[in-house]
Amino acid sequence: MKPEKALNLMDLPLPLPLPPDHQEHKWMLRALCRKRAPEVFFPSDGVGVERARKVCAECPVKDECLEYALTYRIDHGVWGGASERERRRILRARRLAAARR
Ligand code: SF4
Repeated sequence: MKPEKALNLMDLPLPLPLPPDHQEHKWMLRALCRKRAPEVFFPSDGVGVERARKVCAECPVKDECLEYALTYRIDHGVWGGASERERRRILRARRLAAARR
């Protein structure tokens, strides 16, 4: 069997994707949910969503968190105090607003 050729970065078409900017996610260090059980932010019902929202309402990085979830199209959980359905609405509203421009 012929050995596979090792990946050579010089063979890839330009431009190469940029590496992730880890400075961009520094806000996560101030997230209130770091001190909570992860399942709080992945509720299965409306009562759970309300419980997560109460934590998010006090969080100093709520705006950054919501934008992160919107940017990376995170489908599950409560991010920035917004449920999955609310985030879909926000994205739809932004798409419509951009189409009108
Ligand atoms: S707003 Fe985001 S970072 Fe803050 S507690 Fe809620 S889920 Fe965590």
